[in-house]
Amino acid sequence: MSIQWFPGHMTRARRQIQDKLKLIDVAIELLDARLPLSSRNPMIHEILGDKPRLIIMNKCDLADPEATAKWLEVFRKEGHAAIPVDASSGYNIQNIQVEARKLLEAKFERLIAKGLKPRPVRALIVGIPNVGKSTLINKLAGRQVAATGDRPGVTKGQQWIRVGSEMELLDTPGILWPKFEDQLVGYRLAVTGAIKDQVLNVEDIAFYALKFMSAHYWERLKERFELETPLHDIEDPNEIVSIMEEIGRKRGCLVSGGRVDLEKVSGIILRELRAGKMGQITLEHP
Ligand code: GDP
Repeated sequence: MSIQWFPGHMTRARRQIQDKLKLIDVAIELLDARLPLSSRNPMIHEILGDKPRLIIMNKCDLADPEATAKWLEVFRKEGHAAIPVDASSGYNIQNIQVEARKLLEAKFERLIAKGLKPRPVRALIVGIPNVGKSTLINKLAGRQVAATGDRPGVTKGQQWIRVGSEMELLDTPGILWPKFEDQLVGYRLAVTGAIKDQVLNVEDIAFYALKFMSAHYWERLKERFELETPLHDIEDPNEIVSIMEEIGRKRGCLVSGGRVDLEKVSGIILRELRAGKMGQITLEHP
C-alpha cells in the first residue's frame, strides 16, 4: 500500500502527533538504519520540538554496522539518545525502556522530590510508513496490538501498553510523511521497499540500486551474481545495463529471441537486496 500524502494529510498527521505529545514524556523516532536521512520526516524537529527524544535505528540487521555506529554518534551529538534495533527479531528492544528512562531521570527525580509517586515513562513511537512501527509495537507488547499498514488520518481509540515496569507506550504510532521533494530520496526509499515498486518504475529502481552497489559494494555484487562483466565507469549507463543483463541471463530471465526480461530481473535484484542477500548495506553515510 502506498499512502498518498496531500497537504491536508500532512497537516492532520502533524496535528495528531502534536495532540499525543501532550500525553507523553518521550518521543521515539523510528528511522531505517539503511537510510537515516531519507527515512526522516523533513519537519521532525519542528513537530517534536524539545520533547526528549530516543532515536531508534531500526532494521539494523540489514544495515552496515560501521555506518550505523557512525550515525548513532551523529544523533547523540544532536543531543538525543540513540540505539540500533531489529524489531523483527527483537534485538536490543529491552534497551528502549532503559534509554527512555534515562532521558527522564532528572525530571522524575524532581517530581519525586516534590512528593509525587514514581510512575512509568510514557512514550510514543513516530515514523514514516514501513519503517517498522507496528512490528516494534507488537514486539514490545508481546502480542498483536498494532495493525501493520496504518493510514494517516484514521483515528481510533488508543491505549497504553505496558512495557516492562519502566515504560508505557501508546498503541497507535504517529505516522509521518517521508522526504519526497528530492528524486534521489524517492529512489532510496524505493530500493528498501519503503515505497512500492509501482510508484516508481521498477527498472529505474533496480538501475539505481545496481549503480549504488557498483559504486560502494562492487565486490559483494560481483560475488553474489558471479559477475564477469567488467566495470570501468559507473557513470556509463550502458555498463550498468550490461551488468543487469548478465544477472538476467544467470537468473534465467529471458524472453523470446534471447533478450533479457529487464522487468523480471529488476524484481529479482531488488528482492535479494532487500532480503540482505548481498550483505548488510547502508545507502546513506554521514
Ligand atoms: P510500519 O508501517 O512503520 O508500521 O512498518 P511495519 O511494522 O509494517 O514494517 C514494515 C516491514 O518491515 C514489514 O515487512 C516488517 O516485517 C519489516 N521490518 C520491521 N522491522 C524490521 C527489522 O528490524 N528488520 C527487518 N529485517 N525487517 C523489519
